Amino acid sequence: MADKVKVVKFGGSSLADADQIKKAAAIIKADPMRRFVVPSAPGKRFKEDIKITDMLYSCCEKAGSGIDFSEDIQKIKDRYNGIIEGLGIDLSLDEEFDTIVRELKARPAKDYAASRGEYLNGKVLSAYLGYNFIDAADVIVFDTKGTLLLDKTVEAVRERIKGLDNAVIPGFYGRTTEGIVKTFSRGGSDVTGSIIANAVRAELYENWTDVSGFLVADPRIVEDPDVISTITYRELRELAYMGASVLHEDAIFPVRSAGIPINIRNTNRPEDEGTMIVSNDYDFSKESLHHTITGIAGRKGFSTINIEKAMMNSELGFGMKVLKVLYDNGVSFEHMPSGIDTMSITVDTESLNGVREKLIADLRREVEPDHLEIEDGIALLAVVGRRMKNTRGTVARIFAAMAHARINVKMIDQGSSELNVIIGVSEHDLPEAIRRIYDMFINSEKN
Ligand code: ASP
Repeated sequence: MADKVKVVKFGGSSLADADQIKKAAAIIKADPMRRFVVPSAPGKRFKEDIKITDMLYSCCEKAGSGIDFSEDIQKIKDRYNGIIEGLGIDLSLDEEFDTIVRELKARPAKDYAASRGEYLNGKVLSAYLGYNFIDAADVIVFDTKGTLLLDKTVEAVRERIKGLDNAVIPGFYGRTTEGIVKTFSRGGSDVTGSIIANAVRAELYENWTDVSGFLVADPRIVEDPDVISTITYRELRELAYMGASVLHEDAIFPVRSAGIPINIRNTNRPEDEGTMIVSNDYDFSKESLHHTITGIAGRKGFSTINIEKAMMNSELGFGMKVLKVLYDNGVSFEHMPSGIDTMSITVDTESLNGVREKLIADLRREVEPDHLEIEDGIALLAVVGRRMKNTRGTVARIFAAMAHARINVKMIDQGSSELNVIIGVSEHDLPEAIRRIYDMFINSEKN
């Protein structure tokens, strides 16, 4: 038994049909370390296609309302049978489908229904690969409230894989201590992969998807942006907060705590190296690319509460009173840069729904400002990069880029970690701001 292990997780588009599964299998077989495989349910084969998970949710909904769902289940069955035929394996899922129908009729539970997509795909994949099958319900343990019990899970996985050379473990679900099937939130197979990587003490967690890694900027805004070759967990979190997403947020912790890197790879282009997600103490000296910044991401939908009051800085407890008003109105703040007589608090515009007028009235009463206004239509943009800390002039360059484009910077906030600079601009300026920063830091550093 090879002692070094990689855990490989394949997303729904990587396993959407027989041809995709063949690609995934070729990838698995190309490296003897790829011994533990976590599949998603078959995803979309084309844009308008429906994911198996969504088809299962609607079966469950119908079952719950007493509506006949036999046609729906047949469609799902047809898809799996198409895959089985395309792979040329000798496997029947008839019994499994009978059980699913019986269960859904008896007690239509959403999580159970959805979990069957991964369960059945795991069966197919293990048959095709000739790998052992482990039901995730036997090893992934949740408490009765649905919170993952990581220690118990790790223990169960280690016990279960003893003596096994390989295994396919379906993603997305597990079972509560009371025996009820429970799923993670959508996209949760990423989390299963991360947990399994932790449990088997993997060298690497490979997450195979349909893109060649994280991009420096959103490709809908910047044409053909570079792929980020290496990113730290912290940088990733900053970018994910601004809406850049490839990986489920909860997939970070289990591998991060065990010091296991994640490699995002493309099933359709296995020759691409993808993105490595690593811890902060990773040895970056081997890296060939040395851009100052790692990524740029932006998000619309913010508002700033601007407060002005003469001598605000010397008024004891001013900030506290402001924050108390926000707290009392259930509004949490994202950023709060302040001047001597001014304070501007950035909040999610949606969080003001229903409390806007009261919030204004409360602030007027509590802090008696000279001027108070709420400005909507703000976008926040994060420029993230671990190298900014040791590079001078980053903020100056951001400002120069904005000035050239005649973009008004409404807010700036540099985290104390110097890992990111956040700027606030008008929503309509966001795409251009991202393009200018990309040019300034990526294109010009290439020349
Ligand atoms: N199949 C599930 C979903 O569609 C989980 C996953 O793919 O990770 O959300």
